[in-house]
Amino acid sequence: MLTEQLHTFLSEAGASLHRIFMLPSSRHFWFFMLCYVLIALAVYLSGDGRRQGQNFFRFLFPKKIYTHPSVWMDIKIWLVIILLVKVGLFALLYQANYIGSVLLDRMLDKVWVVEAAHEAPSLSDRLIYTLVFTCCVDFGFFLMHYLQHKVSWLWAFHKVHHSAAVLTPLTANRHHPVDYTVHAATAIVMGSFATVLFTRYHGTTIDSVTLFSTSAIHFFYYMSANLRHSHIWLSFGVGNRLFFSPAMHQIHHSTAPQHYDKNFGFVFSVWDWLFRCRYLPAKQEEITVGLIKGESGYHGFWDAMWRPFVECFHAIKSLHLWRRKRALEH
Ligand SMILES: [Zn+2]
Ligand SMILES: [Zn+2]
Repeated sequence: MLTEQLHTFLSEAGASLHRIFMLPSSRHFWFFMLCYVLIALAVYLSGDGRRQGQNFFRFLFPKKIYTHPSVWMDIKIWLVIILLVKVGLFALLYQANYIGSVLLDRMLDKVWVVEAAHEAPSLSDRLIYTLVFTCCVDFGFFLMHYLQHKVSWLWAFHKVHHSAAVLTPLTANRHHPVDYTVHAATAIVMGSFATVLFTRYHGTTIDSVTLFSTSAIHFFYYMSANLRHSHIWLSFGVGNRLFFSPAMHQIHHSTAPQHYDKNFGFVFSVWDWLFRCRYLPAKQEEITVGLIKGESGYHGFWDAMWRPFVECFHAIKSLHLWRRKRALEH
């Protein structure tokens, strides 16, 4: 009996690890982690690490970052997310989204009737769909992230991500389950919206252009995405004006006043430009990450899981919809 349970547990754990490291739809897919190491090597060889007299291993895994208690918190929160996804955290979301898509389709039936297509969409149609789909999801992510910083009861949950005192690729998963759900719901709703419109326009189903069964644009994004949460500086230079570089997300985590509430984007940086919150780094900047003065951190894992509900409740009760810039006011 015990060996049976152990066997089930090990095969479940193996399946989870397989999903995380072996599927290209995961940002921690082995190829994207290899890209992380290769980009780090290029940064090291260009002088950043060698100048400080470190060997490459120490440059890649600085002791003061990887032995910081913040990393253990990242791991604990990630395990909770894996567990919740496993027990169907998003099952209800997908169900609600399916009903929403069907309702949208029914509404469009009355105003936009198209003949069913006899041919499959061309490559150029699929390329346009891939771009529009990515833009819809990316703008949704940007807008939700912007609100997660501006609306006090959303910030109560998003603050857990920003309480990280050091950045490692694991920090990408350091999200309170409520924060994680809000993020996932945005992707599901915005993605479905683009798909319903394109399916109707073409009169048939349409698929993204993919690389290893992942949307081609997201595949390229993931190649450098793990550097967003790291100590390694990667800026796209003039390319920052269109694409959101990992250095721009590190600035988002910075405690410096000039970086406050800047750079909310993911794939494209134009949304930040449109909302006047884009900060383009002219050169490499020294960054201290964490919560700004006036924002209280957490006393351990359970505090980080429970206190956001209390803070959210107080924010709603006191009718403080918008988050106040406490540190900057003092
Ligand atoms: Zn944020
Ligand atoms: Zn982050």
